[in-house]
Amino acid sequence: MNINDMEIILSIMKNDGYSEVVDVPENTEIIFINTCAIRDNAEQKVRHRLNYFWFLKRQWKRNVATGRSQSLRPPKVIVLGCMAQRLKDKILDADKMVDVICGPDAYRDLPRLLEEVDYGQKGINTLLSLEETYADINPVRISKNSISAFVSVMRGCNNMCSFCIVPFTRSRERSRPMESIVKELNRDPTGDLVKAFPACLRHNICKCIHLPAQTGSSAVLERMRRGYTHEAYLDLVQKIRNMIPGVGLRSDFICGFC
Ligand code: SF4
Repeated sequence: MNINDMEIILSIMKNDGYSEVVDVPENTEIIFINTCAIRDNAEQKVRHRLNYFWFLKRQWKRNVATGRSQSLRPPKVIVLGCMAQRLKDKILDADKMVDVICGPDAYRDLPRLLEEVDYGQKGINTLLSLEETYADINPVRISKNSISAFVSVMRGCNNMCSFCIVPFTRSRERSRPMESIVKELNRDPTGDLVKAFPACLRHNICKCIHLPAQTGSSAVLERMRRGYTHEAYLDLVQKIRNMIPGVGLRSDFICGFC
């Protein structure tokens, strides 16, 4: 999801005049940190990364003071994604070097938020939306040579599994209009995506379904508020196997759910 979001953000930034993507933070104008809030470990990694960017900003100040840097401004640091949505301005309070906080439904606002930084302000937008799907934005692929690409068909979630933060950081479930998905596939410069999705025959799609079980115990499923039982899951697996012979199934399991 975050890779897909970065491809949308790249498109928004390119339209705003930023032309070059660099993958080293040392010489860049803007640093994006797209975050995950699903586990504490993921948040700790972000904090370590922020410490390093704080060091970079201090180094920039030193270089300007000693005439070793011509750059007029220090790099702007933007925190995006679910952790930004969860902690909101608490990140700005804890990390003074962060310039912009932008939640998953506010990426269109990034150019304005960056302007606020030019005027010496902090930029923050964590408004969630019931409609935003970025359907009209043509993502800029991060990996040009990849044989696969992410095409998002929906955002958000209406379920309330007891362990999950997604409904709170990515809002309600909404789907992209079918035409916008087909349009995005048609715009793929290699043509590979549209070949994989012929309008009437989808025979060359990988027969693989990701079907997270989370646990095999109906009692734990109930505590997780997953809305199905062990038996219902196995019934579904059987239905899928009947409909798609030879299908591959993948899953997620949570170990040690309390
Ligand atoms: S279905 Fe449950 S685990 Fe999956 S995103 Fe929604 S709330 Fe989270």
